Amino acid sequence: IISKLPQTPTTIFTVMSALANEVGAINLSQGFPDYECSPILTELVHKAMKDGFNQYAPMPGLLTLREQISHKTEKLYGAVYDPNTEVTITAGGTQAIFTAISAIIHPNDEVIIFEPAYDCYSPTIKLNGGIVKSLELHPPDYRIQWDMVKKLVSNKTRMIILNSPHNPTATILNEEDIKQLTDIVKNRDIIILSDEVYEHLVFDGNQHLSMARYPELQQRSFIVASFGKLFHTTGWKVGYCLAPAYLMQEFRKIHQFNVFSVNTPMQVAAAEYLKDEDSYLSLPDFFQQKRDYFREGLKQSRFDLLPCAGSYFQSVRYQNIADEKDSEFAIRVTKEIGVAAIPVSAFYSRGTDHQVLRFCFAKKQETLDKAIERLIKL
Ligand code: GLN
Repeated sequence: IISKLPQTPTTIFTVMSALANEVGAINLSQGFPDYECSPILTELVHKAMKDGFNQYAPMPGLLTLREQISHKTEKLYGAVYDPNTEVTITAGGTQAIFTAISAIIHPNDEVIIFEPAYDCYSPTIKLNGGIVKSLELHPPDYRIQWDMVKKLVSNKTRMIILNSPHNPTATILNEEDIKQLTDIVKNRDIIILSDEVYEHLVFDGNQHLSMARYPELQQRSFIVASFGKLFHTTGWKVGYCLAPAYLMQEFRKIHQFNVFSVNTPMQVAAAEYLKDEDSYLSLPDFFQQKRDYFREGLKQSRFDLLPCAGSYFQSVRYQNIADEKDSEFAIRVTKEIGVAAIPVSAFYSRGTDHQVLRFCFAKKQETLDKAIERLIKL
């Protein structure tokens, strides 16, 4: 066979989690909580199963869940999405991203991404014959240089992929970014894919600037969200996509043949649980406390903490500790110190010599305590 993705390795999340398990390290690499979700939520799932919600959900998802999502989006961001034609429940954020890219990208279309970039974007673009145009962002602030973006745009640019709060750098888009983006896409045939899976993990009183807030951007955007992040249930693999009807129509043509529909009982439970606004309005405080706790602990270490405005990731530089590639350093820290992290170079297609590790702080306090205790030894 001829590989369709010859340069693509096994995803770093799988690699680092496997190593963490193998050597018994504390796993702060792959982003997932190590504490339980609300018992109310698991009760709702049991109830849905006992009540007989065990067959296929409708192809676009359970209508009651789509209605709740539409309601939440309108309340938070002011945009009205028709639950019938503009909301689709997906098997997590990754499937939504795959489907949106596949719906839009033809061979030789160009897609602009910002690196470090979440690792599924590039392979999905390539599978569809698209051409990745990446712009590298640099620590410590990882801001997008919009004059560089303008230079990358051509008449072949079909899509720009944004991700705010950003994984792995924990930055968030600001109003100036939105203004620049709006200028660039105006009068151009460019679709935005906005990965907003960490939408509720924005700290220090800042607002999440969803594409749904800006009509000019909203009407050309796919917005991707995740119940894994919202409910602390990454293993359920349920998320959703929002898009205007003309885009969602194309999205669903693909969705119906790559998953058809998503598991029913979790959707029944999510629809009920979302009625309680506190389920998501409490998240910024909840995670900000964890961020502050982890940062405070790491201040005793020799790591340099990079800013963290959103997401559940804290990145660090380690030039005071070692002078080796982050991929090597991450493996050594996992094996020798017993704490696993993600080397951020894995998110650059050409690699990078920035020496940065990403830690996930969506963990119990005792896990963070143990990790800090080990990391300050370095
Ligand atoms: N989003 C998670 C992270 O960044 C991982 C998801 C995955 O393993 N595919 O760590």
